[in-house]
Amino acid sequence: MNHTVPSTRHAGPVIVPRPDHNVSRSQISKNALRVLYRLKESGYKAFLVGGGVRDLLLGREPKDFDIVTDALPEDVRRLFRNSRLIGRRFRLAHVHFGREIIEVATFRATRDMEIDEQLDRKTDAGGRILRDNVYGDIDEDVWRRDFTCNALYYNIADFSIWDYAGGVQDILDGTMRLLGEPEERYREDPVRMLRAVRFAAKLGFRFDPATEAPLLTLGDLLAEVPAARLFDESLKLFLSGTAVQSYELLRHYGLFRHLFPATDRALDQEENDSFRSLLLKALENTDERVASGQPVTPMFLLGVFLWQPAEKLAATLRESGDAPMQAMIEACDTVLRAQQQHVSIPRRFGTPMREMMVMQLRMRNHHGRRALRLVEHPRFRAGFDFLRLRVAAGDETPDVLEFWERLESMDPEHRRAAVAPKRGERGPRRRPRRRKKKPT
Ligand code: ATP
Ligand code: MG
Repeated sequence: MNHTVPSTRHAGPVIVPRPDHNVSRSQISKNALRVLYRLKESGYKAFLVGGGVRDLLLGREPKDFDIVTDALPEDVRRLFRNSRLIGRRFRLAHVHFGREIIEVATFRATRDMEIDEQLDRKTDAGGRILRDNVYGDIDEDVWRRDFTCNALYYNIADFSIWDYAGGVQDILDGTMRLLGEPEERYREDPVRMLRAVRFAAKLGFRFDPATEAPLLTLGDLLAEVPAARLFDESLKLFLSGTAVQSYELLRHYGLFRHLFPATDRALDQEENDSFRSLLLKALENTDERVASGQPVTPMFLLGVFLWQPAEKLAATLRESGDAPMQAMIEACDTVLRAQQQHVSIPRRFGTPMREMMVMQLRMRNHHGRRALRLVEHPRFRAGFDFLRLRVAAGDETPDVLEFWERLESMDPEHRRAAVAPKRGERGPRRRPRRRKKKPT
């Protein structure tokens, strides 16, 4: 394949005919094909776009299939009974097939996210005219996309690929290249810096120099991005199977510190060898789990990220007189609260994360009923895996791990004999029954 592609904006596409590329319908989800055909048969243009085309060209299995069309969202909604319109800013149709959702977007003309938002607000109030300015044709839609490898369109009408910006060649060369003027594109939407890193890590691509340079200087812009969006993006960076590579690139470009500043500072401190090792092991472990199809939870990695900052603060609090457990709980809360300013962590992850961290302290205590209760704690598995990594990283002594390993492997009946009774404690006592409070 060798197609010369004009790089100027608004030039027409180079059309790669079916015999000249390897994207076959057999690799496209049946449901995506159904949507594409139905749109085409109803007289609309319909293309597969984005990661689906990119991954198929690379011989990889796409995560999902995105479709673009010249049909308006309401038209798409009418064509598919199993569809729903979502999004306030830009309405998209989600077509539901059981658990699979095919996203159908209408070609868009504007590329600046903020302009989009303003237009949308006016659209809501003023109706249709502005909306017509928002939607465009394929040759406008292409320039609002991020990277050349993400800007390829597979045409269901003749199975050709439309390439406006040299994406096919960049995929063959393994090059990440932003469309347009890179600094301007990163300023429009700073999350593109994280997307750049994510795709480079996932695909093993190298950056074109102009796309790469601003990564080193524009990280501050991430402060303007809502913390919830950065959370979503962090999940994609760290839970997609290439966490180690994503992490290394983020650190290399100085972007990590804009996401996890306390972690970043801890990593930079010379004395924190075991923390650096713990973090790397956790990332490796996460990638292995993803590769073998085991479940991964964000709270585990987040707990690792915040571990050293929390421990350090807990030590300070102990020095000023707090009891160890109290100090740890307070330190976790404080560190988590500071983190939320950058990458917000939903409560459903924050709460178990804190439990897992505090459990590390509880695990040093081998005694009595507390140990029996701990091993049955719903978060024990996570706390135990965390402990294992800490021991491997030299952050905890092996005997602690051995104790819990042994206790965990036992039948519940045998566990009681294995825990040393606390001084003065004779077997498990019944708690006195609480009296019900009388309503007053
Ligand atoms: P994957 O789904 O494998 O993570 P993808 O390329 O499909 O990768 P999505 O986030 O699903 O990524 O987005 C679909 C397409 O929408 C992208 O390929 C890109 O063309 C466009 N896109 C998404 N986010 C942005 C953005 N922030 N700026 C510009 N274009 C974007
Ligand atoms: Mg996608």
